[in-house]
Amino acid sequence: MKNCKRVLIIYTGGTIGMKKTENGYAPAAGFLKEALLAIDDMRRPELPSWELIEMNPLLDSSNVAFTEWNAIARVVYENYSDYDGFVILHGTDTMAYTASALSFILDGLNKPVVLTGSQIPLSELRSDGRENLISSILIASEGIANEVSLCFSGRLLRGNRAMKMSADGLMAFDSPNYPHLAEVGITVRYNFGALARPSGENGASDLHLRPFVNVPIGVLKIFPGMQFGLFEEIMTERLSGIVLETFGAGNIPMADKELLPIIKSAFSSGAVITVCSQCPGGTVSLGTYETSRGLKGAGAVSGYDMTTEAAVAKLYHLFSLGIPSRRIKELMETNIRGELTRA
Ligand code: ASP
Repeated sequence: MKNCKRVLIIYTGGTIGMKKTENGYAPAAGFLKEALLAIDDMRRPELPSWELIEMNPLLDSSNVAFTEWNAIARVVYENYSDYDGFVILHGTDTMAYTASALSFILDGLNKPVVLTGSQIPLSELRSDGRENLISSILIASEGIANEVSLCFSGRLLRGNRAMKMSADGLMAFDSPNYPHLAEVGITVRYNFGALARPSGENGASDLHLRPFVNVPIGVLKIFPGMQFGLFEEIMTERLSGIVLETFGAGNIPMADKELLPIIKSAFSSGAVITVCSQCPGGTVSLGTYETSRGLKGAGAVSGYDMTTEAAVAKLYHLFSLGIPSRRIKELMETNIRGELTRA
């Protein structure tokens, strides 16, 4: 039976459409389109009708940042009423950052935006791209997961909960702190309890773009023996938002007494320091241990079970809204797009 839905595929770059060059894999304009047209299944009537937009330039996702996040979101926004859903083909390396960013930029989203890609290019024999792409197109057309999601190797994940877990395995993504939105097996089994509910009245909502501006943000990973004093200058003067990747439930070494005063002065000069965990699973719980108690008193906020990717995107989002840092601090601890769970 003919599928009458319409899906827009947006190719941003990444392995799925890359070509082998003498300098290694790199994206090439027009190459993905050729690869798609060579797949007979892409013309089957059960598949929604699709169109392709290629971003310019095509990028390895290591080179994707806030300018590209804004540009991708704008393509969705400008085509929003013409399609039932959107598939964003993207490199895997920073796909979880882009998925997190889009979840904040696309405010009021009520259609599927599915990010996918592959570990092996579509043009190669063992590519995982074909299955990821076809499943994503179908999911994008169904109008069930009406949020930013990431589809990879049989899993549909919430975009701002996803993490890249493997550099070379085909099961490259997971969301350790949030149930899968769907299992993509013989059928697509949605986990209805985990899906986002539309935010507007009667389930309807208007899409608004909330583009990011270039906010100075840093991620600092704590390690045993870290000399915090070395980071003072960037923490107090240069960075507006800092994600502190701490041990376990939010713990930091206490022997070096320099961190808490640095956090205090960073906070009083308007910086927002968010405590996330180096553990992929579980939540930050400031004050459970003596080694985390001081962070709260110094003005840091808890990122609870947010991924670093989501915390970075959320800092961009909130600072770009131009709201006071006290309010940003409150909102960092509040669930606004399904990115965080507070016990
Ligand atoms: N380096 C590539 C990228 O992120 C890796 C991939 O697509 O899998 O663009």
